[in-house]
Formats: sequence, structure tokens, C-alpha cells
Amino acid sequence: MAIWHDDVDLKGRFHPQHPDDLQVVVHEGSFRFTDTKPEVMWAHVVARLEWTHQSGENGYAYRAVLLNQPHQLKTLKQNDEILFVAKQSYKLPIRVTHEYIMQRAFYDISPCNQCGLPELFDPIPQLWEKSFPAAAKVDKGESYVMFSSFCPLCGGSGGMLMVKEKRLSTNGSGDTNESQSTLPLNRSGMSKYLSRLLKLFKIR
Ligand SMILES: [Zn+2]
Repeated sequence: MAIWHDDVDLKGRFHPQHPDDLQVVVHEGSFRFTDTKPEVMWAHVVARLEWTHQSGENGYAYRAVLLNQPHQLKTLKQNDEILFVAKQSYKLPIRVTHEYIMQRAFYDISPCNQCGLPELFDPIPQLWEKSFPAAAKVDKGESYVMFSSFCPLCGGSGGMLMVKEKRLSTNGSGDTNESQSTLPLNRSGMSKYLSRLLKLFKIR
């Protein structure tokens, strides 16, 4: 039995006859970046990736192989490897990109007010720039990013999520408890770390 069979986030999601296979929402980004729609696809789990931030916070994602040919996605095909994230509260696991999980640790996302999903389909800084080009130009990285975005799953019916960049905990400048989150690593450090981790798993 692989370790993910005891994983609470994946419990009850596996096919009864194929205990490593489950359904994942696979996408190529939100409507802002692609014309293709997300698809629910069967995927075969091959690894659980874990990493620890310097703060002690754990990050994790799963590596899986797509078992069927997508209907209309353009950049993925059967047998391609994807990464996905799953939490107990997610109706279905969600495909993520390497870039997205690298950046996700730097943001708090309050769940969609309709479906409860606290994930986006796009790299968050790019989504911010695309959604609010004027504000992003003025901001120039000096203040922290906070914006609302249509939910990538149910945005068509009005679902919204709130995205807040975590603040560096510097000399008590925060005004709420939420703003006290610490950034575990600088972004490029985090990126190198994850790249190494992913390479390591690809070799096996
Ligand atoms: Zn939603």
C-alpha cells in the first residue's frame, strides 16, 4: 500500500478497483489566460511531494499520470504527468502547476463564497497583473497585494475568492493578526528548492 492510501485528503476518492486512480479537475488556467474549460479526468497517483518552509509550515502536492485523453485541453494528453493538490474540503483534487505551488505559499486565499474552493488556476502575480493592470503598474511591489477574483470553478455564477499576499512580519507594522504571517523563504529561494525537489522525483 502506498502512503497516500492513508492520506486523509485523498480518502474516499480512489476508484474501488484501481486504488491509485482518482478524478482531478484538470485545467490550463482560468478564462483570463485560456479558452479551454477545466475537465474532470482520471489520474494515477505516483508520488506525494512534501517540502517544509523555514517557518516549519509544510507544503505538499501529488504527482499523477493522466489516464485518459482530454476532450479539449490543448497542452495535455494521456500519459502526461500533472501535479495536483487536494484537501479534505475540496470536492475534487485540483491540478496545479509548478509555478503556482511555488507562489501559493506567499498568499492567503479565502475560499470561494459559493463552492468553498481556496485555489486559483493561474500563477497569482500574473493573475493580479492581468486583472488589475493599472493598480499593478502603480504598485511596483511596494505594498502587498490584495484583490478579489472570480472563482475558477464557479466564477460564471458569481463565485468570488479573496487573495491576500502574506506580509513579512517586520517590527510589528501589521494591524491585524492575519498580517502577522511570515514569509518562510524568499521567492527565488523557494523556487530553487521546489525545482530541485521536482527534479529529484522525476528521476525516479
Ligand atoms: Zn467557486
